[in-house]
Amino acid sequence: MSAIDYARSQHVRFLLELKDFLRIPSISALPEHKSDMVTAAEFLRAELLRIGMENVQLIETEGEPLVYADWLHAAGSPTCLFYGHYDVQPTDPIEEWESPPFEPAEQHGNLYARGASDDKGQLYIHIKALESLLHENSGKLPINVRLLMEGEEEVGGKHVSQFVREHSERLRSDFAVVSDTKMVRADIPSLYVGLRGIVYVEIEVNGPSVDLHSGIYGGNVRNPLMVLAQIISQLKDEKERVLIPGFYDSISDVSVGEKLSWQNIADEVVKALEDQSGVGLFGEEDFTPLERAWSRPTLDVHGIVGGFSGTGTKTVIPAKAVAKISMRIVPGMQPQEVLKQLTDFIHSRRPIGTSIEIREVYSSLPVLIDVQNVFTRSAADALERVFGNQVAFVRSGGSIPIVADFQDCLEIPTLMIGFGLPDDRTHAPNEKLSIDNFFKGIEAIILLLEDLRPSANA
Ligand SMILES: [Zn+2]
Repeated sequence: MSAIDYARSQHVRFLLELKDFLRIPSISALPEHKSDMVTAAEFLRAELLRIGMENVQLIETEGEPLVYADWLHAAGSPTCLFYGHYDVQPTDPIEEWESPPFEPAEQHGNLYARGASDDKGQLYIHIKALESLLHENSGKLPINVRLLMEGEEEVGGKHVSQFVREHSERLRSDFAVVSDTKMVRADIPSLYVGLRGIVYVEIEVNGPSVDLHSGIYGGNVRNPLMVLAQIISQLKDEKERVLIPGFYDSISDVSVGEKLSWQNIADEVVKALEDQSGVGLFGEEDFTPLERAWSRPTLDVHGIVGGFSGTGTKTVIPAKAVAKISMRIVPGMQPQEVLKQLTDFIHSRRPIGTSIEIREVYSSLPVLIDVQNVFTRSAADALERVFGNQVAFVRSGGSIPIVADFQDCLEIPTLMIGFGLPDDRTHAPNEKLSIDNFFKGIEAIILLLEDLRPSANA
């Protein structure tokens, strides 16, 4: 029997096991679920041991445990690092769920439960693909495999990031596979090949040493809120173009192949953006909405704090004002360089009588995967065989920090192969996973690993 036939023969059991996994309420954000996190990690450990993975272990961190396993006996073969997360988002508003979030329910070909799509169901696809391969090849895999699963993705993923930084040698691999994204449409398999990075800062403008009365001091001192507003207004023009010198200078071009692939899906993606925003899209001239979202950098203000904002009035000139600002950056741009450009620009506009502090809160690198590398091509081929349709190479305007870590610390590309669908309602009530995609995902991962076995291409 082939591994694919074996997987097909086990559909009922695979689904029952996924339901068991989904019943564990592993909500990382809520301290009362602390023990459920360990239960979920232990579930994975037991499962990985049972299917024949080696070096299976829980790695303690200051947060939730990491689950690690490997199988490294395919000499001369590449090594794949599978990543997934076993934690889930909270369930509120709970009254909007049509079935309880931790009692998986099958309906209309979907499995409804918190974590079904993000990310327990997708992580389980990897494990069931490995199980099928191990079962049909007398405990062997076509290529070397490592698995790393974390329980803190929904709360920042700080400890997995630290682990990757400190143990790059122990995780040495040739490419990574992350299934934590969505397909553009149910019939278009999608590979993410670009992610924007981010630089998030707080800008603090300090003026008088204490809050002052505007009746006594108004007209004689700088008001930090006013100064902050003036600075913010100089960061971008009314056509959405960022005015920081050098900001756009190092952007890499989008390859022709990638741009071609965008044409087929542009309408779909832009319509989804429009529908959800409730306003017309608007942005930089000479760029399409898709380019603005995926391959152009931008800058946004998220909040301004200072002075008095309660009900009623208070005539205060605040001693300080703070703004939270982020810049989404694209391949070619470097977070530290962008931070320096912003800092220089703001300081050059600082008025006398104020001091300004710019604090980096966090940043992550943009990611770009070569559409032509052997792993991307194998993944595209596997997806096309299983889904019977051409793969879309897409980008995301958001960031996936672990992928940036893999690129930065392990120096490997990540295949972002998502089996979720646009209407999966991840992070919202009634999250679901297409059961068909669960099974197709298993087959695609099997084909990918088999295709990368050196003899397969000899
Ligand atoms: Zn996720």
